[in-house]
Amino acid sequence: MDRKTVGVIGGGIMGVDIARRLCREGFEVSLMEGSPEIGGLASPSKFGDYTWDKFYHVILPDDLFTLNMIKELGLENEIKWNETKTGFFINDKYHSMSDVIEFLRFPALNLIDKFRLGLTILAGSYIKDYERLETIPVTVWLKRWSGKNTFNRIWLPLLKAKLGDDYKLTSAAFICATIKRLYGARKKGAKKEVFGFVRGGYARILAAMKEKIKSEDINTITNFKVVSVSQTPQHDLIVKSVDNKEMVFNYVITSLPSFVTASVCHDLTDIEREKLKNIKYLGVICISLLLNKKLTPYYVTNITDERIPLTGVIEMTALVGTSFFGGNSLVYLPKYVNSEDQMFNLSDQDLKESFIASLKLIHPSLKDDEIISCQVAKAKYVITLPEMGYSSNLPSFKTSVDNLFVINSSFITDGTLNVNETLKVADTYFPKVLKIIKNEE
Ligand SMILES: Cc1cc2nc3c(=O)[nH]c(=O)nc-3n(C[C@H](O)[C@H](O)[C@H](O)COP(=O)(O)OP(=O)(O)OC[C@H]3O[C@@H](n4cnc5c(N)ncnc54)[C@H](O)[C@@H]3O)c2cc1C
Repeated sequence: MDRKTVGVIGGGIMGVDIARRLCREGFEVSLMEGSPEIGGLASPSKFGDYTWDKFYHVILPDDLFTLNMIKELGLENEIKWNETKTGFFINDKYHSMSDVIEFLRFPALNLIDKFRLGLTILAGSYIKDYERLETIPVTVWLKRWSGKNTFNRIWLPLLKAKLGDDYKLTSAAFICATIKRLYGARKKGAKKEVFGFVRGGYARILAAMKEKIKSEDINTITNFKVVSVSQTPQHDLIVKSVDNKEMVFNYVITSLPSFVTASVCHDLTDIEREKLKNIKYLGVICISLLLNKKLTPYYVTNITDERIPLTGVIEMTALVGTSFFGGNSLVYLPKYVNSEDQMFNLSDQDLKESFIASLKLIHPSLKDDEIISCQVAKAKYVITLPEMGYSSNLPSFKTSVDNLFVINSSFITDGTLNVNETLKVADTYFPKVLKIIKNEE
């Protein structure tokens, strides 16, 4: 009997994982990716003479799906765990907030505020009822637990830095998921923050992944930007690329962002398309600098100063060390913005100038000749905005079009966007798709 064919659209971590699961179930699988390489948001980039992730990535001790993936790729011994520090830039000064002692010494809050902030973090990391959290605005939840002073001095600037004005639409699920993730950086019983990475970054993971899918006989088609998916009278699905190439499959699973899925899947009902398009995404603009000096000892510096339009500063070499970069430092300057933000229309040169100017506000001693290279990376549809009632408005993974399914990161409802949650979504939804397909056979 001929094997059933499945097309998976999108060659990011999600698409690759789904393609590999299908292959293990005996399907004939094609993976279609619009770019020249697989990897999506986890893809690498060149920084001067060195290669690392285009966007910064760390692994947390609790990231069991990610750790399994790395083990399965044979890279388990290449993971390195390091203690890191978190900084806050408040009132023109850096403060370390990396352990309990530093937390107690933190000068920006009085003792009662600190106690309430500690309670907020505990509550955020333990609450599990995300459906209920989705009924509470994030501002209300934070004020209730932390009090007005801490809300105004710490949480509000952080919310604005992470979400812009969209924080007003966001539910408490967002902050609890964020707190839960950061709490996961404290290895069981340890008081210190610990992050991991694979030597060589995600470039190394993706290279091993490419080898794996080649050996598994998955037909990987890169430079295949999908523009339409439509149904044949026999209920097969035709996938068409921007340069008019066509492929026909018995089943299609798309891992593309919901907005893109709505635009390419022409046979969806109007209601479905509306639901997909209504999922709001935040995009990211990220400037990466290779510097010939260290900026701080912190992996993350949170900025609570609204004059500085950066979501934070990520000093990757504070975690991975400078040896991968010839003794230089790799620093990422991310800014999360609404997918429709006019910032996406600015030229790379304008973005570089404005981000470097912002960085100089918090590092006035930084000189232009200390910047070895500067890169711009942009992605329009990255994180879904956890609005009030988010999960109850999600469309189903099974579309109204026979044999067409959606599995993408919009199904993350109780976590932040990261590789672990991405793989968890695949682990939750793939068996459901498989059950439907198998019942039809
Ligand atoms: C700034 C930033 C920091 C992050 N930090 C971390 C971290 O520290 N730790 C962590 O674990 N995770 C982190 N992540 C998240 C992680 O990168 C994602 O969870 C993961 O890569 C998502 O994979 P995906 O396959 O769902 O999506 P994507 O990577 O977006 O994959 C979608 C794929 O579809 C392709 N595509 C799009 N349109 C089409 C089309 N029309 N036709 C064909 N192909 C198309 C894209 O090119 C892409 O390859 C970070 C992400 C960002 C942006």
